[in-house]
Amino acid sequence: MTAAADITVIGGGLVGAAIAFGLAQQPGMRVAVLDEGDIARRASRANFALVWVSSKGVGMPEYATWSMDSADGWAGLAASVREISGIDVAYERPGGFLMCLSDAEMDARIRTMKVMQAQTGAPQYAYEILDHAGVRKRLPAIGPDVVGAIYCDLDGHVNSLRLFRALHVAMARLGVSYRPEHPVDTIVPGQDGFRIRGPWGEFTTGRVVLAAGLDNARLAAMVGLSAPVVPSKGQIIITEKAAPFLNYPVQTVRQTDEGGVMVGDSQEDLGFDTQVTYPVISVMAQRAVRMFPLLAGLNVVRTWSASRVMSPDGFPIYEQSREWPGAFVATCHSGVTLAAAHAQILAPAIRAGRLPDDLACFSARRLNVPKAA
Ligand SMILES: Cc1cc2nc3c(=O)[nH]c(=O)nc-3n(C[C@H](O)[C@H](O)[C@H](O)COP(=O)(O)OP(=O)(O)OC[C@H]3O[C@@H](n4cnc5c(N)ncnc54)[C@H](O)[C@@H]3O)c2cc1C
Repeated sequence: MTAAADITVIGGGLVGAAIAFGLAQQPGMRVAVLDEGDIARRASRANFALVWVSSKGVGMPEYATWSMDSADGWAGLAASVREISGIDVAYERPGGFLMCLSDAEMDARIRTMKVMQAQTGAPQYAYEILDHAGVRKRLPAIGPDVVGAIYCDLDGHVNSLRLFRALHVAMARLGVSYRPEHPVDTIVPGQDGFRIRGPWGEFTTGRVVLAAGLDNARLAAMVGLSAPVVPSKGQIIITEKAAPFLNYPVQTVRQTDEGGVMVGDSQEDLGFDTQVTYPVISVMAQRAVRMFPLLAGLNVVRTWSASRVMSPDGFPIYEQSREWPGAFVATCHSGVTLAAAHAQILAPAIRAGRLPDDLACFSARRLNVPKAA
C-alpha cells in the first residue's frame, strides 16, 4: 500500500487542527487533514473561548492537571501560532471569576473547589474566595445581586474564531495537506496502514488520528477503538460592541478583544437540536444583567446554539488502538483550553507512536467499568 500521507488527521476542527499543527512543527512527516468542511457540525465555530482551569476535574484529578498543563502551555501556543501564521489570537490570562448570585451558589462553588482539590493527586493551585466588596475591587461594574465569586489566576480567554483560522493558516504554512469537502465514510485497517474512503475517493495513510468531533463515535469502531461521544447543546448570546468594562473573563460573561460581550453558555441534552430557544437565553441574559447591570443597555446582535462533543463522564478520550496500532482517537469538550496540550504534548506523542503513560487514564476503557451496585 503506497501511503498518500504518513499521518492523516480526520477532522479539521480545533482538536484536529491543533494536533495537525503540532505534528507538522517537526519536519520529516507528511501530514494530511481530511475534513468534512464548513457546513459540518462544528463546536469549534461556536464556543465561548475560555482557556479555563478552575473547578475542572471533579471525578478525575488527572483532568485538572491536564487542563492546568495546557493553560500553562497556552502562551507558547499563541506565540508559535502567531509567528507562523501572522495572526494574533488575543490570548490573555488575567485570571477568571466564577460568579455567584446567591449564598447557595457560593457554597456550591466553594464545595466543588474543595472536593476537586481533596482528590488524591489533584493539583493544589491557589484560588481566592471573594465577597461582594472583594469582587467589586476588580470588577467595578458588578451589580448588587453579586454575592461573591471565586477568582483563580490560572484562567484566561482567547479569540477562538481567530484561533481556528490561525491554526489552519499555520498548519498550511508548515506543509500540512488540508483537504476540505473530504468527509470520511470508512476506514479499512491493514497490516501496512489504513485505507480511508469517502465519496471523493480513497486515501492511504501510515497512521490515522480520529479528530472528527461527534463523528468519532461512528469512526472509532472501524479501527478497534471506542469514543461514545454525544451532543450536548450550548446556547450563546453576543451583544453589540461596548467600551471596555470587563478586564477578566467570568465563566458565563466575557468581553471579547473586539468589544462585544458574550453571554454563555447553557447545557442541554437534546440530541442534535441546535435551535436557539427564548426560555433558555432569557435566563442567561437575566443572570448576566444581574451580574453586570450595564448589559441591559446593550443590543443583542447575535445568538447561536451548537453541539458540544461530550463523553459519558465529560472527560477527554485519547487512545491508540491495541488491535490496529497507528490508529489514535482524540476527543474532548474543552478543545480551546486543551489546544496547547494537543499541539505540544499529544501531537509529539502520536508522532512518536506511543501515548505517554500519564494519558492512560483517558482511555475509553475507563467507561466500561461496571458501576458498583
Ligand atoms: C456553546 C459551546 C461553548 C464552548 N465553550 C468552550 C470554552 O469556553 N472553552 C473550551 O475549551 N471549549 C469550549 N467548547 C468546546 C470546544 O468548542 C470543543 O471542544 C471543540 O471545538 C471540539 O473540537 P473538535 O475538533 O473535536 O470538534 P468540532 O469542532 O465539532 O470539529 C469536528 C470536525 O470534524 C469534521 N468531521 C466530522 N465528521 C467527519 C468525517 N466523517 N470526515 C471528515 N471530517 C469530519 C467536521 O467537519 C469538523 O471540522 C464549547 C463548545 C460549545 C458548543
